[in-house]
Amino acid sequence: MKFFVLSIFPQFFDGFKNTGIVSKAIKNGIVEIDTINLRDFSRDKHKTVDDVVYGGGPGMLLKPEPIYEAYETILKKGHNPYVLITEPWGRKFDQNFAKELSEKKEIMIICGRYEGVDERVKNIVDEEVSIGDFILSGGEPAATVIMDAIIRLIPGVVGDENSLRADSFSNDGLLGYPNYTRPAEFKGMKVPDILRSGNHKLIHMWRRWKQIEKTLEKKPEIFEYIELSDKENRMLEAIKNGISFEEFLEKYKV
Ligand code: SAH
Repeated sequence: MKFFVLSIFPQFFDGFKNTGIVSKAIKNGIVEIDTINLRDFSRDKHKTVDDVVYGGGPGMLLKPEPIYEAYETILKKGHNPYVLITEPWGRKFDQNFAKELSEKKEIMIICGRYEGVDERVKNIVDEEVSIGDFILSGGEPAATVIMDAIIRLIPGVVGDENSLRADSFSNDGLLGYPNYTRPAEFKGMKVPDILRSGNHKLIHMWRRWKQIEKTLEKKPEIFEYIELSDKENRMLEAIKNGISFEEFLEKYKV
């Protein structure tokens, strides 16, 4: 997968490209991130990329020409990226959106700055993307969020694909279960006995229970659009009725 990121601060992405899973994916040739400096596509001698707003008002806007020039250069090289622009009012970025985008071969992300971007840029945009209801000073942090979430979904990027399946919002939509590592006891806090029991069937059930419990507590709306098995529905009912996992095991003789 190839990303083209149009920005007036391409150095913003250096740390992102050189860290962790993303840097490994780049080294392994699975992902390419081409950060493009919009200033390189400014035609005027001061390399200006922004200008005042027509009709008045505070601040500056990114001019359309450098963005079009950069895009046309990409097209001329034979690429045809799906074009995103970061906008606070765009489609809310989430795991499903990331999944959709992970199936594209080429993605271009336009990063806004200042008051935003000249409206005519929208002519080349396929989708506007927001990472949440708040205002950033530029699209760059949003672009890293978007790319990171997409990149980890590309086959071969995350070593153990089971870890993707266990992620929150993935697979069946339930939130993730709690995890522990060594030591087994830390400042008086113990790892739950079940996890150390070696009983994999029980561990699987306990994790399911915890997922349902967490989802009910933090994002109950998820239950409106996912399908649970009969057993999971019984767990959900039990949790709603204040029954503990141990009582549940007892009741259903599992
Ligand atoms: N004047 C705009 C805000 C501009 S913020 C307004 O009224 O909403 C500057 C740039 O940061 C935007 O052009 C956009 O590219 C980026 N940005 C800000 N908040 C964002 C968000 N929540 N998600 C994605 N991009 C965002």
